[in-house]
Amino acid sequence: MNYTQFPRRNYLQGPTPIEEMPALSRVLGGEVNLYIKRDDLLPGSAGGNKTRKLEFCIADAMEKGADTIITCGAVQSNHCRLTASWSAKEGLDCHLVLEERVKGSYKKEASGNNFLFELLGVKTIEVVPGGSDMMAEMEKKAQELKAAGRSPYIIPGGASNAIGATGYAVCAEETVNQLNDMRLSIDHIVVPSGSAGTHAGMVVGMTGVNGNIPISGMNVSRPKDVQEEIVHKLAVKTAERLHVKGGVERQDIVCYGDYVGPGYSLPTDAMVEAVKLFANHEAILLDPVYSGKAAAGLIDLVRKGVFPKDSNVLFLHTGGSPALYAYLDTFRK
Ligand SMILES: *Cc1c(COP(=O)(O)O)cnc(C)c1O
Repeated sequence: MNYTQFPRRNYLQGPTPIEEMPALSRVLGGEVNLYIKRDDLLPGSAGGNKTRKLEFCIADAMEKGADTIITCGAVQSNHCRLTASWSAKEGLDCHLVLEERVKGSYKKEASGNNFLFELLGVKTIEVVPGGSDMMAEMEKKAQELKAAGRSPYIIPGGASNAIGATGYAVCAEETVNQLNDMRLSIDHIVVPSGSAGTHAGMVVGMTGVNGNIPISGMNVSRPKDVQEEIVHKLAVKTAERLHVKGGVERQDIVCYGDYVGPGYSLPTDAMVEAVKLFANHEAILLDPVYSGKAAAGLIDLVRKGVFPKDSNVLFLHTGGSPALYAYLDTFRK
């Protein structure tokens, strides 16, 4: 597809690796061949999926003359870490509004991404209660900054608008090209599904290049139906932006809501097992909030025999490992 009509920075340094996971495949019974796309190795401090989205969002901000970025996320947000990271690199100020989705979970001195926000030089961090209108909170911040003579630009949570999701259409196309080069036929792709830009963008890109590989999203916060609607809405908008002929059908969006557990960012036994299996057998670090739960879903589907024997299944690793250091007790138990 043609992305040159959009403002875009140059954050990628080429395709992220696609690797085989033979040891993990064996441990899970050897009937399914597991592969992984290493978006955890994307550039930007400690890597992860938001770099692909920010390549477009920050470019849009800069084209509009912004000197300041405002964004929001949870208290251990990878998106906030990467927004702070790329803002620092571009010479833009960065302000964060953090949503305390789990009461009492924000600790100024916490490790993980929280520690990195400060290290990466964010100007202000404002913490608001779970359920707050995050867009309204960011608008408030923008008014304050405008009054002080700045030119702020708001990036929504997870950079999950049509601009950010374009980064994952790029990823789908990149993946299909790599698989062709590798002469590797993948039967199914599994991705985490959170603020939805990753999942929506992947489906749009796959449709746009006629890649014909089914994509399943593993929810990290919402029930199946609710998430599918959110992903579909964003996919439709993104497909329009990219002029994908025919758009995206509702049935192209498939989510699993079974691996969320008690709620967003709250650990599950299956997540802990998945993180340990990936670390022990493939030396790959997942995270407790997104890739760990998505991998728990992948592992469960493999064990249940949902993928036919000898299928090749690709897991999209969206990053997030800094959050591990905020969950030491969960893994040492
Ligand atoms: C944000 C995030 C996701 C989810 O991506 P969305 O585009 O928000 O659905 C998955 N994994 C990690 C590590 C993330 O930070």
